[in-house]
Amino acid sequence: MERMKELVALLNKYGYEYYVLDNPTVSDGEYDKLYDELKALEAETGVILPDSPTHRVGGEPISAFQKHRHISRLYSLDKAVTSEQLSSFVDKILKSENPDTKYTVEYKFDGLTMCLTYENGYFVRATTRGNGEVGEDVTAQVKTIKTFPLKINYQGTVEVKGEAIIRLSVLEEYNKTATEVLKNARNAVAGAIRNLDPKVTEKRKPEIYFYDVNYIEDGSIRSQSQAVKFLKDNGFKVFDYLKICTNLQEIQQAIDEIEVNRKTLDVLTDGVVIKVDDYNVREELGSTEKFPRWAIAYKFEAEEVTTILNNITWQVGRTGKLTPLGHLEAVDLCGVTVKKATLNNYGDILRKNIKVPCRVLVRRSNEVIPEILGATEIFDNSKLPEKPTICPYCNSALKEVGANIFCPNEECKPRVVGLISNFASKDALNIEGVSEMTASLLYDTFNVRRCSDLYKLGFQEIYSLEGFKEKRAQNFINSVEKSKHCPLENFIYALSIDGIGKKTAKDLAKRFKSIENLKNATLFDLIAMNEIGEVLAYNITEFFSNQDNLNEIDTLISLGVQPYYEDNVKGDKFSGKKVVLTGTLQDFKRSEARKIIESLGGEIMGSVSKLTNLVIAGESAGSKLDKARALNIEIIDEETFKKMISND
Ligand code: NAD
Repeated sequence: MERMKELVALLNKYGYEYYVLDNPTVSDGEYDKLYDELKALEAETGVILPDSPTHRVGGEPISAFQKHRHISRLYSLDKAVTSEQLSSFVDKILKSENPDTKYTVEYKFDGLTMCLTYENGYFVRATTRGNGEVGEDVTAQVKTIKTFPLKINYQGTVEVKGEAIIRLSVLEEYNKTATEVLKNARNAVAGAIRNLDPKVTEKRKPEIYFYDVNYIEDGSIRSQSQAVKFLKDNGFKVFDYLKICTNLQEIQQAIDEIEVNRKTLDVLTDGVVIKVDDYNVREELGSTEKFPRWAIAYKFEAEEVTTILNNITWQVGRTGKLTPLGHLEAVDLCGVTVKKATLNNYGDILRKNIKVPCRVLVRRSNEVIPEILGATEIFDNSKLPEKPTICPYCNSALKEVGANIFCPNEECKPRVVGLISNFASKDALNIEGVSEMTASLLYDTFNVRRCSDLYKLGFQEIYSLEGFKEKRAQNFINSVEKSKHCPLENFIYALSIDGIGKKTAKDLAKRFKSIENLKNATLFDLIAMNEIGEVLAYNITEFFSNQDNLNEIDTLISLGVQPYYEDNVKGDKFSGKKVVLTGTLQDFKRSEARKIIESLGGEIMGSVSKLTNLVIAGESAGSKLDKARALNIEIIDEETFKKMISND
């Protein structure tokens, strides 16, 4: 009972921060864990405290907004996180004597529930879900959104339901210049719509995806499929995915497909919603106080978690740029123990309101190290970290350039080590066996300070290094020799110009065709390229106006390095085409097929979407092939692919 009281108090505090303040201090995963613990205790004891959050849908409307009573109650969704829970949901429905039930499967966008009312064909009101019965009137705010109809064909009273979202790319853009960073897309959209100033709503550019009809006067809609058709026919924006499934296996397949594809979406999703299609069956199944029994949200593993940030240290990268690294209290994130997370620069610390120590929200990112999204709780002893003025490695006085801080010492060890290991990496000069550890060893033992120094090392020197036996030393020497003949794009990437990754290096090689031309490129030439913005253009011209860099390039060339450019676009077979490779090809490795397609002007995509033009399906192709069929995308087999390329 004590624990139940504790959990109720804690969950109500978190619920208030989440629903009312739009400023949660813990992640959804952490909230859900405590909620599940409470639910289990309630089931075990048979006691439900009067203020338990398990009674409630969402939060109470705040008084700053006009209250609005929904015509038909808005429910939350029960959730499943395991396949057992999902199968028990389906079992219950089967037991209810509806063996032929069809289910709809949809994406679950993670934003703010919106309910829009139309009368006589006109939009009259937008409200939040609130506590399910009474929501907040946010009509003025929602009117700033351009992506829903003000007038529809249907003439009776109808209430439609949707999810307000902010696109991830829009959030990223917004955060670039915002004085205070918005932690994630869900908070951002909730804060944008539940904001008394509609101008704030407009500035954050939310959109609404519609997924349900909550009430229709003439009762003409009798299934989810009809509801979605009604929404489309009346000009509402509907996400183009509605799978009809007849059994658990098909539902599971749809979930698997969504789990992969959601990563390519520009919208935050946190799961899949499975609903009984037929309203007659729904009515038979009914609802609990909080959830309908005919629907369930299958939630994916949370990719965000909160933990304590104990310290910040500064790392020096290969361009000399200092980046803050957060040291965290160890926490599990998607099955991995996380102890470190990145921040961008000092300005990022200020805008994310980071203090040391504080509680931070951390998200799994595509990079190896997760990213800190913002502070969720500040303590009495929290202090703003100081901006570094001297390099933590070599004590040089630091320089500020724009938003970043740099160590100007070109011989600062972590900088040289980063530079050399990048120079030797596969996408650069591809020199075998130069890890960061080797680069560090070369720095300490043979004073290797520049990339060109690699070409001055002899066999005996390498052989004398710890861990280098004869064969390894010889491989290194051979590999250094071989690296001299290198594609221009690799050479450009190897130079470690601030902000120039593989893709930009390729674009630059294609545009300038020689290192000489690139050296002489003006800001104007660079900005004129679609792929290059002002900051990158400035970084490039800065790099080539530094005499040390020019000397280093000359030294490399005098030591025999010869970057070459080959215009290898042979034909236009795949020109402008976005191609997906799936299944096993018999006569090509994936990487080979990829190279061929790229050399013929095509672009390889990781997954099938509406943007895909062609799918090459090898043996045992699975869900990508299914998706391509569903989207009516051209599909060819390996034989056809071979014919296409042999004609060239
Ligand atoms: P929910 O977000 O888990 O699911 C219900 C909502 O899903 C609906 O209201 C609807 O808006 C949305 N949805 C998206 N796509 C849909 C579709 N295709 N069909 C139907 N609905 C769709 O439930 P909830 O009641 O809004 O929120 C509860 C959750 O909020 C908790 O499980 C927790 O994760 C989070 N929460 C977090 C904190 C915190 O402190 N971090 C506090 C309270 C609640």
